[in-house]
Amino acid sequence: MRVLLIGHPVAHSKSPLMQNAAFEALGLVAWRYELCDTPLENLAERIAFLRHQSDIAGANVTIPHKQAVLPLLDALSPAAQSIGAVNTIFKRGGALIGDNTDWLGFLADLEHHGVNVGFDTRALVLGAGGSARAVAYALCERGARVWLHNRTHARAQALAEAMGSQVQVCSSLSDVVGEVALVVNCTSLGMWPRTDESPWDERVPMPRGAVLYDLVYNPPRTRLMQQAEQAGLRAINGLGMLAEQGAAAFALWTGVPAARVSSIMRHVLASHA
Ligand code: NDP
Repeated sequence: MRVLLIGHPVAHSKSPLMQNAAFEALGLVAWRYELCDTPLENLAERIAFLRHQSDIAGANVTIPHKQAVLPLLDALSPAAQSIGAVNTIFKRGGALIGDNTDWLGFLADLEHHGVNVGFDTRALVLGAGGSARAVAYALCERGARVWLHNRTHARAQALAEAMGSQVQVCSSLSDVVGEVALVVNCTSLGMWPRTDESPWDERVPMPRGAVLYDLVYNPPRTRLMQQAEQAGLRAINGLGMLAEQGAAAFALWTGVPAARVSSIMRHVLASHA
């Protein structure tokens, strides 16, 4: 069986490394994970191909197609529907189902690091793009209260409205530093090659005793993580989330529980970081 990675570009992706390592470790010798570079004009054709090829179990969908793919599928999971983005496609009874495992990956990695999220958690999410939607959904599912801060205020406002009463927009970081125990970077600031950038304004003190989770994992220690550690916060990068979202997708294609493969994927990613 085959699983595709549909995106544009895809050559840089670490997913083949971890998915193929998991197939091999579990003895799924006939399975392989393949890159499938797909410009937008070919997306519909690619999804039709996926639908009709009986040796393809499903796909991951990545930038820039996570939203564009929605109308091409037969059904969406409740999470994909609420988040408004699909990162995993699987087949059930001939139908193509769109799901989103980023939110599960985020929660699983927090759990891995012993960070509890519940009704008493107050979190600040930086960003309002696709990953911020998944993270805000995850935090809301756990009952947390969420503030959103984004360069484009209107985009944060739209996300807050879509998520409901647990989420509100904050225009100034200094308004919430005294409130939050968890800060999650869902912007692309700090990602290679622009590693000197950070979404945190140096003039604003960081929230005392908080945990900083940076979805960016390349470089493994971002500028934001350095700022956080210098201010005494605990800082975690997004490599574990990458492994956990991959393990959750693997479970949808193969039926093997995510918990059986996430450690394999973590190990592979850590040894290639
Ligand atoms: P999107 O393109 O959907 O969103 C990008 C976000 O970054 C927006 O909020 C955007 O703000 C903000 N941003 C971009 N440039 C700037 C800038 N110069 N100044 C201020 N804000 C800026 O990306 P994603 O949400 O899909 O991904 C965000 C990051 O998360 C990426 O680095 C990605 O690799 C990482 N990621 C990691 C995952 C993991 O498993 N660890 C999973 C998914 C993503 P605006 O709205 O104003 O444009």
